[in-house]
Amino acid sequence: MIREIFLRSNMLGLMQNKQLLVSSIIDFADKNYGDVEIISKVNKTEKFIYNYSEATNRIKKLIQALNKLGLKKGDRVATLAWNDHRHFELYYAISSMGGVLHTINPRLFEEQIIYIANHAEDKILFFDESFSSLICNISKKLLTIDHYVIMQSHKSNPGIKLENLLSYENIIDQKNIDIEWPQFKEDDACSLCYTSGTTGNPKGVLYSHKSTLLHAWATATPDTLGISSSSVVMPVVPMFHANAWGLVYAAPMSGSKLVLPGSEMDGKSIYEIINDEGITISAGVPTVWLMLLNYMDEIKGSIDTVKNLVIGGSAAPKSMIKDFFEKYNVTVLHAWGMTEMSPLGTVSRLLPKHSKLSYEEKLNLSAKQGRAIFGVEMIITDDDGKLMPRDGSSFGNLKVRGPWITERYFKEDEPIVDKEGWFNTGDVATIDSDGFMQITDRSKDVIKSGGEWISSIDLENIAIGHEKILEACVIGIKDFKWDERPLLLVIKDKKSELTKKEVLDFFVGKVAKWWIPDDVVFVNELPHTATGKLLKSKLRDEFKGYKINN
Ligand code: ADP
Repeated sequence: MIREIFLRSNMLGLMQNKQLLVSSIIDFADKNYGDVEIISKVNKTEKFIYNYSEATNRIKKLIQALNKLGLKKGDRVATLAWNDHRHFELYYAISSMGGVLHTINPRLFEEQIIYIANHAEDKILFFDESFSSLICNISKKLLTIDHYVIMQSHKSNPGIKLENLLSYENIIDQKNIDIEWPQFKEDDACSLCYTSGTTGNPKGVLYSHKSTLLHAWATATPDTLGISSSSVVMPVVPMFHANAWGLVYAAPMSGSKLVLPGSEMDGKSIYEIINDEGITISAGVPTVWLMLLNYMDEIKGSIDTVKNLVIGGSAAPKSMIKDFFEKYNVTVLHAWGMTEMSPLGTVSRLLPKHSKLSYEEKLNLSAKQGRAIFGVEMIITDDDGKLMPRDGSSFGNLKVRGPWITERYFKEDEPIVDKEGWFNTGDVATIDSDGFMQITDRSKDVIKSGGEWISSIDLENIAIGHEKILEACVIGIKDFKWDERPLLLVIKDKKSELTKKEVLDFFVGKVAKWWIPDDVVFVNELPHTATGKLLKSKLRDEFKGYKINN
């Protein structure tokens, strides 16, 4: 009996111990969807068109080239690039040969780029030719780079003065070769992405092959983004922003046609490529979709092939979800995540039982950030760590854990998870009984008024629903009596008149009276972080000591 229990408790499964490696994705696409197209916009007018098999060929040549450049397992390789086919090839070649792909956000300040390239100890830097002058400006301060590689269509030297400069097309200009994909452990690192660090220095999130694969798998499933061989996928979210939300892995894994839109993110360019290529699903931050909506309004356009737009990175305003549905028959999938989470955590999709809800109720649910995807556990707690109820109204600190959520930052000794493995996201949220999570605020942005919390995001969403308001931001202003009170900053449509009173009246009946902002300031622009989020810390500094005037 004892022997039986012993045997049972030690019984391992007898399955093959095949490691989950990034190379398996592109290898699978090559063998099973070889003729499926990749469309890459290389400049305003030109596209580069090829397929998964041709891409795999170039990836293998790139692996050879990286080997020749002396890249060793675990070495970091930086990219400063847009969403195009070369960046796609780098994604696969670097990770597949055992290196670590380090995507750098070119919208960061020069000092931040220098900091993270040195912190990561990048050995090679691949850069799009549009970043040539940036690289020339900072190269002296990049202390660990042995080679620079310019990503351009022609092989000739672009005429810039940079030591150790190579050209992408030159280094992969070699005979077709068939290599065996290098094998290593699935827990080995495959890529590195720094959070934009609105406070303090950026922090590196180091993904493993396994976490990347599992995340992509989960992303593709029907109730997540629902990606398949009939999808035409276009990540508008940059490939330097949290792995383009996993789409550059999920698309080849699913055999979808992949469209890489290059550097043009304006409404017209996005509109044209959507219609030219028959995009069925795309993903990006609200700002991009706002530009598309404005452009379509202007030209009375339509985007008939699009079934879903994934909106995340910042809250998708309800008015945007409504516009896309009512005017263009597009269902928005509101999603939430973080660089630390690979990044996807939740998606808002209605359940079958919601079919009976009214249109308005459905809209309200779709505007929430949604339900955890399989693999992500999610709770809310109070400041003492006590679990808060899933009642849809109690706010708490949002904590997550799972196999694609980071445990510690690159080169940091201290884990960022608690004893039970929970990572505190820094977001404040509610969760309802069906598991729909709604972000109320970033914990540092929530407005604490008279001991209660006011959600700046809710107020911004209402303001942006006003037809004469283009962008809105709410920050807390010190108040003698209430501790903090909300101040609303708005960019109004230049063509129309708008008064403070009109703006404030717009809130009446939509929120509790004490939530209504105390004052409105009309501004010409609002500052954003490198990932397009409102830079509230800057605004709080700027409006420190502001006297409410109403
Ligand atoms: P950054 O490098 O700019 O911090 P992240 O993508 O890691 O970029 O930012 C993650 C944060 O973005 C989340 O913690 C949350 O505050 C915010 N966020 C992401 N998606 C949403 C969303 N759908 N609604 C509201 N906030 C969001």
